[in-house]
Amino acid sequence: TGFLYIVPTPIGNLQDITQRAIQVLSEVSAIACEDTRHSRILLEHLGIKKPTFSIHDHNESQRIELVIERLEKGESLALISDAGTPLISDPGYKIVHACRKQNLPVVSLPGPCAAIAALAGSGLPSDTFTFKGFFPVKHQAKQNLAHTLLTETATSIFYEAPRRILDTLSVLAEMLPAEQNIVVAKEISKTFETYRYGSAESVHAWFAAEDVRQKGEFVILVSPGLAQDEALPMAAQDLLRLLYTEMP
Ligand code: SAM
Repeated sequence: TGFLYIVPTPIGNLQDITQRAIQVLSEVSAIACEDTRHSRILLEHLGIKKPTFSIHDHNESQRIELVIERLEKGESLALISDAGTPLISDPGYKIVHACRKQNLPVVSLPGPCAAIAALAGSGLPSDTFTFKGFFPVKHQAKQNLAHTLLTETATSIFYEAPRRILDTLSVLAEMLPAEQNIVVAKEISKTFETYRYGSAESVHAWFAAEDVRQKGEFVILVSPGLAQDEALPMAAQDLLRLLYTEMP
């Protein structure tokens, strides 16, 4: 059988693609892309001419059979997303799950991932962390989530869209104590890469000060909570967390 290669691609700086990624992309039979038109630009830049097909959130289930069939025939395939590591807030989970269930070989190449680059560069505790994907969209859900951060024992990592960054930071500024530091990592690996470190209030104030600061791509990191609920038994803490998320 063939191999399914998970291939991370750059999140900004095109130099961040690994030599192994280039080699794999040059050798596979075809490349499954989140958006074929988007990835064509990268593949052209790398001088790679390969058949591509799309796998995105809306057709992933249907594409599984096709991918499995091709792997069983002995073809190797690569899976890429628009940027960074596939499956990390990107499509690919269902395909990889299907391959593992059928014992088909999957090779996951290490490479660019905004969450990991931001964590390593943030200055926040990196020994335990929780990646929580995109911040919730609705204001109330943002508040409920922010509440859970008061008692969270690990560093929390979120992705956020430019049109929502200010609202999310305002919720964090309102809910978190001044001693619980946050970091926003913006435009990682690009020309205007910026890290803002400090209280949620000070970070919010910096982003609010100029509209241009709200443009680009963002990772939000929140340091572990300082609340003293740690003294509560585990079951009580779990119940509290559940209440915070479920409460309207
Ligand atoms: N799979 C990607 C990865 O491995 O990082 C993430 C894909 S997700 C759809 C896109 C989000 O990742 C953006 O909204 C932003 O929160 C974050 N992101 C991607 N590139 C970034 C960058 N260069 N700087 C900061 N955040 C970035």
